[in-house]
Amino acid sequence: MPLQLHIAGGEAVLSELYAELNIAGQCSVCGRVRDLFALPGRPEKFCLECSADVASAIQLTTEIDAEASAGRATAALESEFSEVSRRILERSQLADLSDV
Ligand SMILES: [Zn+2]
Repeated sequence: MPLQLHIAGGEAVLSELYAELNIAGQCSVCGRVRDLFALPGRPEKFCLECSADVASAIQLTTEIDAEASAGRATAALESEFSEVSRRILERSQLADLSDV
């Protein structure tokens, strides 16, 4: 459908606008209604806490890749990454349990 292509382009512009305005909505991770932040390259939006964790997770993934391809040890980064992912997972599970 050609119409959907047009809408997809418009949505990209809209989500940039939303990121700037911090419009309140439901966080993709914890499900709470907060001011939301968008991360570059991610369609989801997150509250401040979750966006910080998701951003760290993305950052760590990039660092792990870089270290691994340079032949360096990634154990410290990987444990940091699993810590961050655990926090994100815990928060999303809490969201499932509550009735938000
Ligand atoms: Zn959140």
